[in-house]
Amino acid sequence: MHILYLLYPQVAVENEGRADSVSSTPTKSRFTSKFDSIKSLGKGAFGRVYKVREILRNKKYAVKIVRVKNKKALREVRALSDLRHHSIVGYYTCWMEDTGYMQNSSADSCSSQESPPILEFLYIQMELCGSKTLKHWIKQRNAKTLQDSQRRQESLTIAQQIVSGVEYIHSKVLIHRDLKPANIMFGPDGAVKIGDFGLVTADDVDDENPMERTNETGTFFYMAPEQLETIYDRKVDIFAFGLIYFELLWKLSTGHERAEVFKDARNQKFPKELPLTFTQEEQLMRSMLCKEPKQRPEASALKVELEKLAHTLNPLKTKHQQNVTSDSHTSRRL
Ligand code: ATP
Ligand code: MG
Repeated sequence: MHILYLLYPQVAVENEGRADSVSSTPTKSRFTSKFDSIKSLGKGAFGRVYKVREILRNKKYAVKIVRVKNKKALREVRALSDLRHHSIVGYYTCWMEDTGYMQNSSADSCSSQESPPILEFLYIQMELCGSKTLKHWIKQRNAKTLQDSQRRQESLTIAQQIVSGVEYIHSKVLIHRDLKPANIMFGPDGAVKIGDFGLVTADDVDDENPMERTNETGTFFYMAPEQLETIYDRKVDIFAFGLIYFELLWKLSTGHERAEVFKDARNQKFPKELPLTFTQEEQLMRSMLCKEPKQRPEASALKVELEKLAHTLNPLKTKHQQNVTSDSHTSRRL
């Protein structure tokens, strides 16, 4: 267990702004009792996320705690630790803890290769994002009457950052598989941050040898039709992005309306007013939501199209200015 102790960073939970005292011996019980007692940043199907403060650096981070049932739980850290991109949540480190917090450390020593300790919780230390996700952003925009042009501009800026992150993920031969507004956050400066790589998988498929995948569900609402089957590729992320872009742009007032309109949008049927106001976007969304994955554009091609659209909507902006905007900021903070 000593080896594991060395891996524990000096992290204390931020608790009502009060500084916790630093212990020179990081202990498992110290983490757990405090994690249990504070309000989490978020809770999803796979884990809980907490706001923590690292004592040595006096910096705040997010720590996600995932129960490790099998080696698949590790894929999130394995993927995240290889990704460095301004539109993807930053990864710092990870460690594991078992559930027997009161156990005697000598009793579960790592020294025996034959009987390794049962480690059941994976802690992932990440960049701390704002508490409001893109889901909140959409909800907020739907609650007020904005000028179409303003929402259009904001949506485009966000979409450009998402597609830039997706292009990067795909360039690393990975598929996110669970793109949805609740998994997209904002950094302290308002920049988009794609998170939740819990379903990430390798995109090692080619046309001759399509890869058979175990059937793991993402979020049905945003899921490409073929994702319900076992053979699919990175284009499932493009389908989800098409729906996200639609939701960014189009005001949906009630949950019922959202369910109905989404069902149609998944079949490339959009509200009839959409192409009148958002001609270019409608064409892009239509291509992203093609039933046939091969007909959906690559993220790199979409990025170019969105840049062109940004240029059309803002002809006075120079290309350089546009890149700066799309790479680092949304037009408005949450
Ligand atoms: P689900 O399976 O429901 O999509 P999950 O269990 O895999 O979720 P995450 O989506 O990673 O967990 O996180 C759950 C929530 O925690 C997010 O929706 C977000 O509100 C919050 N959260 C996650 N990561 C961070 C972070 N780095 N900074 C701030 N908040 C975060
Ligand atoms: Mg999630």
